[in-house]
Amino acid sequence: MVKNFLIIGMVCSTLFSSTLSYAQTKKVKTIIVDAGHGGEEPGAIGQYEGTLGTKEKDVTLAISLKLVKELKKQAPELTVVPTRTTDIYQNPKEKAKIANDAKGDLFICIHADAAALKTGKRQVGTRTVTRYKITYTGKGKNRKKHRTPYKVEEPVYHYYKLPTQRNGTSVWIFAAHKTSDKLKAIVSEEGDYDLAGHDDPEDAKVDFNSPEGRLIAQVYAKRYQEKSDFLATLINEEVEKTGRPALGVNQRQVGIWVLQATNMPAVLIETGFISNPEDERYISSEAGQQELAEVIAKAILRYKAQVENPPTAQNN
Ligand SMILES: [Zn+2]
Repeated sequence: MVKNFLIIGMVCSTLFSSTLSYAQTKKVKTIIVDAGHGGEEPGAIGQYEGTLGTKEKDVTLAISLKLVKELKKQAPELTVVPTRTTDIYQNPKEKAKIANDAKGDLFICIHADAAALKTGKRQVGTRTVTRYKITYTGKGKNRKKHRTPYKVEEPVYHYYKLPTQRNGTSVWIFAAHKTSDKLKAIVSEEGDYDLAGHDDPEDAKVDFNSPEGRLIAQVYAKRYQEKSDFLATLINEEVEKTGRPALGVNQRQVGIWVLQATNMPAVLIETGFISNPEDERYISSEAGQQELAEVIAKAILRYKAQVENPPTAQNN
């Protein structure tokens, strides 16, 4: 909790000092690419029967590295800052600090989804077991119990996890509307800070009942929500063009701590489902990873073009 105030302090101090400069600075220069999970925290792991055993942390790193490369290639004028380039663990505070220290203009968080698996069973054979038939003879004091053994054939089952049907890419943003019920929801929300297993450390949560927490939510609503939503929409559109299921833009009031702790528009991309065979193979493959990197890069460059040259604004 104590360390948490460092970030809150950081967000708040920039908030009061940079309103003007923010309005003037319309260039999108620095992109932070965050590979989700890492090190001792693998994220989701392929567990269904026939899985490649993919670990989310490896997929997120591979896609992130390709995205960094792609952005540098397509837009050499950009500064691209990965939060990690190797298999290391960073807590959300470290990630947010890297992003905020680099004064990022966009925070791109790469993840992969997993849905809950059902268990299936199949018969793999039979085994012989001994059971006992119980009978009684006599009455009263002479009543006796008899156990007569007999053999039966019993089926033997093998239990396994079934893959999920659900597949595709979804984009998540942190949403906090200043005047709506949604802010109230943030303020009153307790528990359930978990997004598809991406639970943040206890001490990394923002206390939305505190004045600082409210401020963060309000700043987010004012400054970043619209832009985050815009980028998320562009990413969703680019995913659609590949023919894979584009699951849309999802808003989340709580649960994606790193998105609300970064002082910039931020999106989290669930690139595909590790629990789905087709998606698992796609996000584990060079070709799939490269396509995702290109999709995200394209959306970022469209975003950059729009923000720097809005069609309705005067360019002088
Ligand atoms: Zn994840």
